[in-house]
Amino acid sequence: MRNATRYIDPVCGIEVDPSTAAATTCYNGIELYFCAESCRRRFEAAPQDFVVSERKGFWRRYLERLHKATGGKPPTCGH
Ligand SMILES: [Zn+2]
Repeated sequence: MRNATRYIDPVCGIEVDPSTAAATTCYNGIELYFCAESCRRRFEAAPQDFVVSERKGFWRRYLERLHKATGGKPPTCGH
């Protein structure tokens, strides 16, 4: 049985299958998958909007979801 790893679009929060992801980017050593090119553009235009604590732990929750979704092995990049 194939391990269907799913990642999460940090912009809209939906689960993204990496094989069908519309766009990816590298942020802080983590590979991020997006459901659409427009989501990637929104993230890259202002990554801090999605990462800073003003979003009430959004990024921390995102990483927790990502760790859960990927069995503790979030996709890394840029190393
Ligand atoms: Zn999206």
